[in-house]
Parts: sequence; C-alpha cells; structure tokens
Amino acid sequence: MNKQTKQALIFVAILLAILAVFQFADIGSPKTKESTITEIKQLVQDKKVSEIRVKGSKIEARVDGEVLIAYIEKSAQLSDYQITPDNVNIVVEDPDKGSLLPNLLTIFLPFLLIAGFLYFMLKSATGSNMRAMDFGRSKAQLYLGKHKISFADVAGAEEAKQELEEVVEFLRYPEKFRRLGAEIPKGVLLVGPPGTGKTLIARAVAGEAGVPFFSVSASEFVEMFVGVGAARTRDIFAKAKRNAPSIMFIDELDAIGRQRGSGLGGSHDEREQTLNQILVEMDGFNPGTKVVVMAATNRPDVLDPALLRPGRFDRRVMLDLPNKKERKAIFEVHLKNKPVDKTVNAEKIAQGTAGFSGADIKNVANEAAIFAARQNKKTISQNDLNWAVEKVFLGPERRSKVLSEKEKEITAYHEAGHAIVGHILPGTDPIHKISVVSRGMALGFTWSVPLEDLHLSSKEKFEDQIAQMLAGRVAEEIQFNSITTGASNDLKNATKIARDMVTRYGMSDEIGPMTLGEKEELIFLGKELAEHKTYSEKSAALIDQEVSDIINEAKKRAYQVLAKHKKMLKQIAEKLLKEETIEGEDFARLFK
Ligand code: ADP
Ligand code: MG
Ligand code: ZN
Repeated sequence: MNKQTKQALIFVAILLAILAVFQFADIGSPKTKESTITEIKQLVQDKKVSEIRVKGSKIEARVDGEVLIAYIEKSAQLSDYQITPDNVNIVVEDPDKGSLLPNLLTIFLPFLLIAGFLYFMLKSATGSNMRAMDFGRSKAQLYLGKHKISFADVAGAEEAKQELEEVVEFLRYPEKFRRLGAEIPKGVLLVGPPGTGKTLIARAVAGEAGVPFFSVSASEFVEMFVGVGAARTRDIFAKAKRNAPSIMFIDELDAIGRQRGSGLGGSHDEREQTLNQILVEMDGFNPGTKVVVMAATNRPDVLDPALLRPGRFDRRVMLDLPNKKERKAIFEVHLKNKPVDKTVNAEKIAQGTAGFSGADIKNVANEAAIFAARQNKKTISQNDLNWAVEKVFLGPERRSKVLSEKEKEITAYHEAGHAIVGHILPGTDPIHKISVVSRGMALGFTWSVPLEDLHLSSKEKFEDQIAQMLAGRVAEEIQFNSITTGASNDLKNATKIARDMVTRYGMSDEIGPMTLGEKEELIFLGKELAEHKTYSEKSAALIDQEVSDIINEAKKRAYQVLAKHKKMLKQIAEKLLKEETIEGEDFARLFK
C-alpha cells in the first residue's frame, strides 16, 4: 500500500469515528418514547414522574428509566395541564442549546468531506505522476559518506590526479590559499574519451576532500519546456553554495555546452538559456565561494568558447586511454576483490588490450567472473580473462551462424591472407590470434596487437596497414580467382586511411602538406554530416587520384607477399579449417 492510500484511509476512518460518536452519543441516556400531554398529566398526578424538562413546545417527562416525549401548543402553558412546580420538578431549557453542535456539524460536514477529498486528490497528483510544481528543481544527486571513492580507486591517470590534488587541497584548507591572495580554481574540465574514468575521478576528488558532491548530468537540463534548464541550474548552484565547501559536477557537459547559435531544432533556445545560466552562476561566485565546479566531456572541440575562458572552466585535466602500465594497474584494481588463481598474469592481459579504456577493462574483469561462475569454478583463471577480452573486443561468438563448407574455406583463406601479410610487412602489429569463428558481423577475424602504445604513426606504417587490410581479398583472388562481398569492411577501412593520409596528414607528394576539407558537425545530430569543400574541383580530382594510387600500390604489395608465400597460405588456411583458431605464438612458429 502506498503512502497516499494509507493517508486517505486514515482520513476516512477519522470521519467515520466522528459520525459514530454523534450517532451513539445518546447511548448512556434513557430510552425515549412518544407520548401525549394528557398521558403525562395523568402520570404527574399519579406521582410517577420524577422530572419534567421543557424545551420550547417539547416536553420530556422522566418516568422510571423512560423518557416520554410530548408536544404542547405554542400558546399553551404547562399549568394549563395542571403540571406545576408543586407536584413535579420542572426544568426549563433553551430549546436550541443542546442541538447546537450536531447542527453545526450537519452544516459543515459536507464541506469538510469535500475539502478533504480535494486535498488528497491534489496531493496524490503532485506527489506521484504529475510533479507539476517540481519542474524547476534539479535532480542533482548528493553523494556523501557512503561508497566513498578515493584516488586509490583510480588506477593510472597520475597527472590528472596530481592536478586534482590541488583542488582537494583547496577544498580542505581554503584559508591557506586565500591568505596568499591566490584565486581558487572555479571550474575544472575533465576531458577524455568515453570510459577513461572522468566521472570516477570527479567522485574521487569529492571523496578525498570529504565534501558534499552534487552530481548532475547535463542532459537532465534539457527538458520539454524552455526555461526549465535555467531554473534547474539556479537550483543546483544554490544547493551547492548552501553546502559549501562543495563540488558541483556536470557530467557530459557537451550536451548543453555546445557552441551557441549553431543548432537545429526547437530545443535550441533551451540549451542556450541553460548555458547562459551556468555562465551567469559561475560569474556570480564571489571570491569567497568555496564551490568548485567540475565538468566532464569527451568533446572539448564542440564546447562554446565562452565556457573555456579564464574564470570559468579554465583548468583542463586530460584523461587519456591508459597505456600498458596503467592498464595493468586498472586490471589489478578491478581484480582486487575477485578470487583469481595463480595463472592470472595482469601484465600479459595488459599487453593484449591496447586501446581498451578503463571501462572496457572493468567490463573484462566482470565478464571473466561471469564466465568462471558459469563453469561452476571457485576462482578466475587467465583463460577466463582471455575469453573475456575477446568478447569485449570482438563481440560475442556466434557459433550458431552456420557457414557452408565453401564459405568456411573462403573465410579461412581470407583470414590467412591478412595474417601472413601482417606478419611479413614491418609496419604492422604482431598477430595475436586468427579465427574462422563468427563474431559480431564478421565471419572470421585476424587480431593484431601492438607491442607498445604508440602515439605517432608514419606513412610507411599506414601503407603496410592498408596492404594488410586488402590482403584478405587478395588471398581470395589468388586461391579462388574470384572475389566475394566478405571484404567490404576491409575496403572501407583501407579507403578511409588512404583518404586521411592525403587530406589530413599531408602524406601525398602531389598535394603536399596541407589539410583539405573541413568537417562541420551539425549540432544535435552529432554526426559528421557535412564536409565543407574548401578546395577546387581540380584538387578533388587530384585527391581521388592520390587515394586510388595508394590503394593500388598497397594491393600490389599484398599480392607480392602472398604470391611468394603461397604454400604458407594454403597451410594456414587448412589449419584454420581444421582447428578454427590459431594463437599468435603457434602462428609465428609456423614461419620458423
Ligand atoms: P567516463 O565518465 O570517462 O566515461 P567512467 O568514470 O564512467 O568513465 O568510468 C567507467 C568505469 O570504468 C568506472 O566506474 C571504473 O570502474 C572504470 N574505470 C575507468 N577508468 C578507471 C581507472 N583509471 N581506474 C579504475 N577504474 C576505472
Ligand atoms: Mg562519465
Ligand atoms: Zn578481412
């Protein structure tokens, strides 16, 4: 039973009780009986009446335990019936007095009932569904005390932690900074790809500083009605100030912080107002306000410049995808509370998970635990972790997807082609695993993992990578002298790299070092919808020519490699058909 029905029931019960009291108020008094004045006159003369009460024209006579009631004419008097104080005790009462309360009640009870009814109607309406009066309130969540997160829960990200240490210091000992006239950071913007721990580190700052942490996701500001976001902004800032020193955290800031004046659609005004309100609130902090506003985004490039100017989100803390050492540390954090056996080697998993974010790693640890539990094991092994890495990276296996014998064979040669070219050419990453088990959309996969995290790529590396991508299709051509649709994704990726080499990285000799074309994002749709052509038709034709040259050159190299290793191609494809997967180490051994 919910609270409202309970209250309504109590209300009804009270009403019934009141009614009952009036209904049975006469319980203790004697029985009444209609009678006539002549009868009473007789009884008086017989001395059977102990008392007579007169209420206007109503006569009540008490006769041992009974009350007889009779009425006399208005003009008549009791003495007309020989009833006088001489022979009986007479009490005269004000006719209206006794009935005053019941009378009032009969007048007001309906009103009371209606008022009560309305009250409960309104109460339940605002309480549960409508929230008609509640729009302007923010749904900011307050985290305090419980689930306290500290910097120890954030693995890696050392520089970010160092920067934020300062914020923690300020929130803990504001006087220390103020004495020296230091301006306190007002806004800290956490920038990094999804899943790199932005939300996590913001909560860790609150945990370390031991202050209230108000968290709100920017998308909550955007509602149906214009002005609601601004009202919520005021509300959450007011809350944070009331609880100062405190941290206010706006997650996914880009949802409202995109550049103003460039949107599409109706709620554009709303975003703009909300954003303006945030700017106003941040400017309105007086120097003593001990509120630090933190925000997170993975799209700093689309943020309105007004948000980033000094005095607002002027501090930026970068969170990058973790490198190998950091991945190892993150694995250790997430395996800490899970029972693992001796085979588990965090170093090795970290090695094989280049490009994974912290969130991916958490996911891997969790999937491994689920996988181990499904096998009724007590501990998690390295194999469980490897299985989980594959699942997270490539999508779940789809063994139910049945390929015909011919399709299997084509897939085996295709993957063997990728693997061999990837192994031979110097600019590609070592082969980690080859498989002809369907996963996600792919019929098979060749998985390469870099030896170390690299931040720069070179023209030669790109060329080798494109050759590896095309090698699947080249292998099909060599073996079956026909081509299939299986390579469409490879072609797409290869073309994209080639195009980027020409238009973004200036790696074409013909065109030279410049970028061509500017991507403009249409706000709200968030996709690369329009690419402004900032070059002439002549350049466009030249770009196409250059891209096509790169692709064809790469294809030629793939062909050369595979033609030279034709025996190996056959050997690996046959092994794949027999065993379905080949591990990287076994694969490398075949070449020795
Ligand atoms: P973001 O907000 O950057 O998208 P989150 O902070 O939501 O990412 O991270 C999601 C989850 O990934 C976290 O709850 C945490 O469990 C895990 N995670 C991410 N980065 C780290 C890290 N550096 N150390 C430990 N766990 C991490
Ligand atoms: Mg987040
Ligand atoms: Zn392929």
